[in-house]
Amino acid sequence: MSLQSRNSHIDLLLTTADAPDPVIGGLLSDPDATEELSAAAHQVRIARKGSHTKQRGLIEITNRCLNNCLYCGIRAANRTLERYTLSHNEIVAAAKYAYSQGMRTFVLQGGENPAVTDTMVTDVVRELKRTMPDAAVTLSLGERPYDIYRTWREAGADRYLLRHETYNPAHYRSLHPAAMNRENRLRCLDDLTALGYRVGTGFLVGSPGQQLSHIIEDLRFIQLLNPGMIGIGPFIPAANTPFADHKAGDVGLTLRCVAILRLMNPDADIPATTALATLGGPDAQQKALCGGANVVMPKFTPPDARELYHLY
Ligand code: SAH
Repeated sequence: MSLQSRNSHIDLLLTTADAPDPVIGGLLSDPDATEELSAAAHQVRIARKGSHTKQRGLIEITNRCLNNCLYCGIRAANRTLERYTLSHNEIVAAAKYAYSQGMRTFVLQGGENPAVTDTMVTDVVRELKRTMPDAAVTLSLGERPYDIYRTWREAGADRYLLRHETYNPAHYRSLHPAAMNRENRLRCLDDLTALGYRVGTGFLVGSPGQQLSHIIEDLRFIQLLNPGMIGIGPFIPAANTPFADHKAGDVGLTLRCVAILRLMNPDADIPATTALATLGGPDAQQKALCGGANVVMPKFTPPDARELYHLY
């Protein structure tokens, strides 16, 4: 694509809510567009969100999971992994430490293991909100029934992160076991929104079988959902999963997605994610932060547990 058509494509994204597929696809597939897209996204970020980078303290509360997402290192079928669940006191201590380091949002993330975590999470959320009322609590604990989401919301949880992973139905089926379904995940996003959570979603870039058209579907879905937060990261092959031998997502494509997301969702919070830093190094994370992203999520998981939280 010529410099001129790149710029006119970017202008279209800036000025219209529904740029045609070839415009978005053309930018996504052009490695030379990365710099200009990032520069345009950075300007929008500065104008709408300011130059300040928000920090969210991430606490990975459990690597136990009942699900079997084909890409995920903590899937139930991975028997090689030593499993842990942090105790109530360990989570609260990690959050207090994060608070002492300036964090005013905690993100409690983990696998899906309702038996262990449902009531504990309720109690932890209550305690965090009671002892640090000026901090926000974000949960990222997967698909749960409406009643559990409601209980956690009533306990004080403010936000919820649940990536849709991929919007295309056939592609969704190819990344997940038959026991999981996309409709339930979308139902969860609706429930969370209805309950008044600030909702975050997002997708994997470069997951096995992903086509450019799938990414365009993801971008349009997100724009329609209009979430408060959008987290995306490159797929990274994880040991002891069915996708262990697949190739990783592309850092440049991820950066172009981050930039386009900013242009399409000027007011959303968009993190420069850990997966991006893992695959592309600090340089890639820096580029995201100068290309539309405005959030980082440093880990406050206790070191022993951190070693075992192997998503990839
Ligand atoms: N159980 C929770 C938290 C999942 S972990 C939930 O379902 O939301 C958070 C995110 O890590 C996932 O949403 C997924 O997008 C990402 N992830 C999992 N495996 C990955 C991999 N192999 N490469 C890159 N990202 C991965």
